Amino acid sequence: MVVGDFSTEVDVLVVGGGPGGYVAAIRAAQLGKKVTLVDKAELGGVCLNRGCIPSKALIHAADEVNKVKNASHMGIEVEGVRVDFSKTIQWKDEVVKKLTGGVASLLKGNKVEVVQGEVYFSGENTVKVATESNSTTYEFNHCILATGSRPTQIRSLPFDGEKIISSTEALNLKEIPEKLIVVGGGYIGLELGTAYAKLGAEVTILEGTDSLLPGTDPSMVRMVKRNLKKLGVTVVTNAMVQKADTSGNGVTVTAEVKGEEKSYSADKVLVSVGRTPNTDELGLEHAGIEADERGFIPTDKQMRTKNERVFAIGDIAGQPLLAHKASYEGKVAAEVIAGEPSEVDYRAMPFVIFSDPELAYTGLTEKEAKEEGYDVSVSRFSFAANGRALSLDAADGFFQVVADKETKQILGAQIVGPEAASLISEVVLAIEMGANAEDIALTIHAHPSLPETFMEAAEGIVGNAIHMVNK
Ligand SMILES: Cc1cc2nc3c(=O)[nH]c(=O)nc-3n(C[C@H](O)[C@H](O)[C@H](O)COP(=O)(O)OP(=O)(O)OC[C@H]3O[C@@H](n4cnc5c(N)ncnc54)[C@H](O)[C@@H]3O)c2cc1C
Repeated sequence: MVVGDFSTEVDVLVVGGGPGGYVAAIRAAQLGKKVTLVDKAELGGVCLNRGCIPSKALIHAADEVNKVKNASHMGIEVEGVRVDFSKTIQWKDEVVKKLTGGVASLLKGNKVEVVQGEVYFSGENTVKVATESNSTTYEFNHCILATGSRPTQIRSLPFDGEKIISSTEALNLKEIPEKLIVVGGGYIGLELGTAYAKLGAEVTILEGTDSLLPGTDPSMVRMVKRNLKKLGVTVVTNAMVQKADTSGNGVTVTAEVKGEEKSYSADKVLVSVGRTPNTDELGLEHAGIEADERGFIPTDKQMRTKNERVFAIGDIAGQPLLAHKASYEGKVAAEVIAGEPSEVDYRAMPFVIFSDPELAYTGLTEKEAKEEGYDVSVSRFSFAANGRALSLDAADGFFQVVADKETKQILGAQIVGPEAASLISEVVLAIEMGANAEDIALTIHAHPSLPETFMEAAEGIVGNAIHMVNK
């Protein structure tokens, strides 16, 4: 035996300490399992360190700047708004630190052993964990894989970390770029592009398909486009990026736009064209697990892979690549390992985009509901008729409810407007509890408040809306 090469038996081995892995580890520990969690980097994964949290902190800071700059119609005149960006970044890092520190103490409090190291499968129920000083073999009863994803690189625009950057670097810039090109109009590019535009950058978004936020209801996207225009953001759709020239001071990107070659120059290019699952360097083949052609690991409804001792959750288990989906799957996997009959049901999965205005949706759209054979009733209540939205100076958008015409059962909702990301939770709960529009209409909502828009839209389904004319 080589010095330092020894084997350890573990009950549940969790690989990855992101919102999938750490939640799975805590849930398994709660259910009486002895859990070891291994991560090669920081606890909290992408979400806490390079994703959801730092991006939302930056978006919030940018919103504050934008608000004070645009408050003169309320009689608030602010002269000489200046952003000390290094302080903004420092504040964002402090937010992140509080949360990652919280994860560490929660794991400790639940007696989860945390190991820092890189995992590689060496057999069906064994992994090698390479730490800085040695390599240990772990033999597991069950393993939950939650190794997440990384920014996808395009060959013609390889990341250099300086001029051609991913979301990771975009969250850690030293200064606000004067000009920023965002390649990819999905939610990550859109959120960060909007934030930098609010902070003063001249932003151009180059999107390959014919719409921003591909896959999102166009009537929702329309409002976002309108605000991007107000912010001075240029959106170019059907733009297929060909190459980038970084030889000068900045960077020039060449794209084919509707058959024509066009050039765009900036200080930096943020490439945000999707995420690649971290499954290629795990030695999955040794465990009898195969990823699909895009690198995602197929699972059953209990998150079990082809190897019945191994579960895969979160980004590596496929779309949607969202933190709350990762945590949800982590809980299910942990419960299955503990012998509970849990399985996933994505009917009420919330999708949230922190654009301006915010977008959120869950369940079925009108089109999807019709395709599923429902006789559909749709009711849309405008934020322009909601007192709280008006008093927040944020009356753009709507709360739309899709329900079954006969039973009035809530099937889905689409929200564009203030606090859409929070408001969607009420709909998620309604769907989860099997509530119908009458239940929502009968629920007393505080006035004035944004959630009243859900009540009003639900009343529209029932046919007794007060603050809009019933159809
Ligand atoms: C800019 C940005 C903004 C986002 N905003 C949101 C948002 O607002 N809402 C939302 O729901 N989602 C958001 N996401 C997506 C969210 O971050 C991911 O869906 C989520 O982090 C996935 O969780 P996970 O546990 O599957 O993996 P991750 O969070 O990616 O964690 C995986 C962990 O595994 C570790 N690891 C990888 N390989 C190994 C190995 N071989 N051995 C040991 N450890 C390993 C990594 O170090 C990492 O810590 C955002 C992402 C980005 C990039």
